[in-house]
Amino acid sequence: MISNSCSKEEAAAHRKLSRPSSPSLYAAALLILLLSFCIIAFTYPNAYAVIIDGEKKALVKSPEIVESTLEEIAADISKGKDLKIEMDIKYEKVHVGDGEFTEPAELKKILKSYLSFLSSAAAIVVDGEQKVWVEDEKAAEEVLENLKKRYSPKGDVKLIKLDFKEEVKIQEGLVDPDKIVSVSEAEEILASGGKVITHTIKKGDTLWSIARNNNMKVADILAANPGLTEKSILKIGDEIKLVKTSPVVTVVAEYEKVESKVIPFDIQYVNNCELARGTTKVVQEGEEGQKEVTYRVTTLNGINILAEVVKTEVIKEPKTKIVHQGTKVRDGIAIASRGGIGSGRLAWPLMGRITSGYGYRGGEFHGAIDIDGNDGDPIRSAEDGVVIFAGWSGGYGNTIVIDHGNGLRTKYAHCSQIDVRVGETVSRGEIIGRVGSTGRATGTHLHFEVIVNGQCKNPLLYLR
Ligand SMILES: [Zn+2]
Repeated sequence: MISNSCSKEEAAAHRKLSRPSSPSLYAAALLILLLSFCIIAFTYPNAYAVIIDGEKKALVKSPEIVESTLEEIAADISKGKDLKIEMDIKYEKVHVGDGEFTEPAELKKILKSYLSFLSSAAAIVVDGEQKVWVEDEKAAEEVLENLKKRYSPKGDVKLIKLDFKEEVKIQEGLVDPDKIVSVSEAEEILASGGKVITHTIKKGDTLWSIARNNNMKVADILAANPGLTEKSILKIGDEIKLVKTSPVVTVVAEYEKVESKVIPFDIQYVNNCELARGTTKVVQEGEEGQKEVTYRVTTLNGINILAEVVKTEVIKEPKTKIVHQGTKVRDGIAIASRGGIGSGRLAWPLMGRITSGYGYRGGEFHGAIDIDGNDGDPIRSAEDGVVIFAGWSGGYGNTIVIDHGNGLRTKYAHCSQIDVRVGETVSRGEIIGRVGSTGRATGTHLHFEVIVNGQCKNPLLYLR
């Protein structure tokens, strides 16, 4: 009867403990709790999907990570300059596992490849076409000013016009930062077409070897490098251009310049029967005059294309030289005596400075004297004679040869005009042609030869 010995309280307690309950209800509640915890833990948005142009590209913890990465990229690309970023970027809250976030380096790569960065810049527009981009309008203006300066006339001139032949404008806009170039680069692109290939001079280089190695002609290299000549000394380390440039812009300069020019004096020959034939007497010395010629010059990228005389002012008139020439025949020896060294019997065919003397010049024998003259100046026969050649003669250009008898001949080369014919007799001092630069001539001059028995002699020994 143990159970019956229990007190009322004990019985109540026992009853409480052993009360029939529902354990499945407890389990269900616990499961729900656990499940909802799991649902919350595994679906609660803990990340952002980065959607670029409608496509999911990355997973990040916060949009700030994307923003700071963009700033980083912008700093890399623009070196501290403001960039405009053109893109459509959206975020979507998502839930991801720990290992699913996009690595920072990967994010940077993705952003870089999917975004386009545009920088504000200034374009130089030539005839409606954007040719080159520089940092800003100020830089563009500097480029254009520098180009004008490069081709503006030097020295004491009166500038009338300095502008571009093409329509050149500056336009501000947005551009890929890779396209922006420096002021000097822009200048080169506009001046040369941007297709310049250079060669740095190294030991043993010659213009000829450089030309051969680059499939060019020496003349092409010279054309691409104004100022360079075949005689230029190539310094190791110097750069030369290998491609003939094709400028994008053309600087037109128009200016006036005044040049002081000599007016050569005329020589008037007067026959004098008192004087022996073959002898002359100067009765009035000639004096050169002086004039100031105003030219109006137009240049395109520094190259003269037009030079017009707009004004000529004579400062001093020339004084004619008057020479009496003897006509008295004295025992018929007048011409026969000519030809000896230093006989000094020929008349100057042209009055002027001797720009190249008789003898060796640069390894080549110059069997003549070159007398400086202006285009069209009269050339006079050095002595009485017969024209035996009048026409084109290779490097001599338009040439006249006069036979004076007794094995003496004179030759006049590079003429712009020939006024005599073969077989014609000419008198001393008679105009036979005009000064020019025909044939292989470096400037306007008369190439004058004295030929004695087929051999060139120093004309200075024969001229009086
Ligand atoms: Zn010559």
